[in-house]
Amino acid sequence: MASVGTPTPTVEVRPVGHFIAGAFRPGQSGRTFETLNPATNEPLATVAEGLAADVDLAVQAARRAFEEGPWPRMPAGERARHLRRIAELIEAAGDEIARLEVLDTGLPITQARGQAARAAENFRFFASAIEVLVGESYQSPRFLNYTLRKPAGVAGLITPWNTPFMLETWKVAPCLAAGCTCVLKPAEWSPLTADRLARIVAEADLPEGVFNVVHGFGETCGAPLVAHPDVNLISFTGETATGRAIMANGAATLKRYSMELGGKSPVVIFADCDLERAVDAAVFGVFSLNGERCTAGTRLLVERPVYEEVVERVAERARRIRIGDPFDPRTELGPLIHPDHWARVNRYLEIGRGEGRLLAGGGRPPGLERGNYLQATVFADVSPEARVFQEEIFGPVVVATPFQGEEEAVRLANRVRYGLAAYVWTNDLRKGTRVAQAIDAGLVWLNSQNVRDLRTPFGGARDSGIGREGGHYSFDFYCEYQTVHVALGDHPIPRFGVG
Ligand code: NAD
Repeated sequence: MASVGTPTPTVEVRPVGHFIAGAFRPGQSGRTFETLNPATNEPLATVAEGLAADVDLAVQAARRAFEEGPWPRMPAGERARHLRRIAELIEAAGDEIARLEVLDTGLPITQARGQAARAAENFRFFASAIEVLVGESYQSPRFLNYTLRKPAGVAGLITPWNTPFMLETWKVAPCLAAGCTCVLKPAEWSPLTADRLARIVAEADLPEGVFNVVHGFGETCGAPLVAHPDVNLISFTGETATGRAIMANGAATLKRYSMELGGKSPVVIFADCDLERAVDAAVFGVFSLNGERCTAGTRLLVERPVYEEVVERVAERARRIRIGDPFDPRTELGPLIHPDHWARVNRYLEIGRGEGRLLAGGGRPPGLERGNYLQATVFADVSPEARVFQEEIFGPVVVATPFQGEEEAVRLANRVRYGLAAYVWTNDLRKGTRVAQAIDAGLVWLNSQNVRDLRTPFGGARDSGIGREGGHYSFDFYCEYQTVHVALGDHPIPRFGVG
């Protein structure tokens, strides 16, 4: 472990208000809460605390914009122009956005810059996608059916604190492209970049009420958004348990859901693979983004002949990861988001000591007494029954388990309730393809890692989610299909009531 520097924020942090009907405003109750800088745990920002009344105001604004405003009725090309303008503004403010994200979440600056660039790309991608979106027609000699994709209404977008800006744009961009209007409820631990996005939207001159942001806590701000009768869709990213609570809460008002939930993704390494690349990818895949990545490869499943070599190489790299000031461009692993989250991950480190062989890390890095720092940690010889094998830890922790042969690899990969992503490493493409297809996960990288093609569907199987977003799959979620059936001639109609 190498530690670097002390935090050097160089960006202005303003008080954060809600953004409703095109205006920034405090909460109606006047209540606020404070966020913390994860590198120091000193107060960072004062944020308006949204409650049911603020949510209602925002939903009303979004509803009016949907029912009466120009946005849903605008030609797709015109909406696309607005979205491209937002992308340009994000790019122009890219460095500031990255710095806000570092302050808010502890993400290392080089990685935060990459995430800001991906956010702009989300807007560009969905601007182009909506321009080429087509309907379908089904013809017979006497009839024509055609389908329309209509914007589905007002969307509630509820997002987590990990890479918040990128994940927020991953929802906002397709939602707006489709012609919906929305209320975004960002995570309470990371409100700064959502506020910056609201400023960008204001500058891009979108019609009033199309995009609204209400800040606040899950149960007092997220829950009223889910329960609101004027919200048609909920796109949620977060923990599986929260997803369940949201679906129960929304049941009375019958909503459509997209649920991007937790993960415990396996990295399956066969003895015949390019070990150098597999180890590089395994280390990056679990320790980048501070280990707070939904698709992190947190379970290393390694074929017995190379097991000891692989776990020792991963551990050796983990010990050398540079931990420290997230503003230092050399930093690879920054502080975790919040002291509560640090304590949660740290508890798993204690559990892991009793369930596996600790090869690297295991606690707070020496010399970094302030802030939510944890070492990159590797546990070997972990059994599939272990809690650290089964449960999502969401920090820089990887567990390793040996396997023998293809069948056992698949069995172990599928031995958890999650199914978000998986990684398979082998130079035998037939075997790799068989294994990839046998793993129950929404996305499998075969000799690859964490590269996303935005045209493809993204989402989880089993407890990792419901539905898919990305490419036209996002529009399946944000649009309502309508079929129009047209008679082309005078087909016979049964005549009732003529005696
Ligand atoms: P979380 O579930 O605690 O919170 C997510 C959001 O939901 C926050 O905005 C929170 O305020 C809100 N919320 C909490 N309770 C609510 C309620 N009862 N009603 C409405 N909203 C409520 O998740 P988190 O800790 O912020 O994020 C980490 C989790 O997100 C991890 O499990 C991670 O795997 C998951 N995640 C999944 C993906 C994916 O694409 N599948 C991507 C990123 C993160």
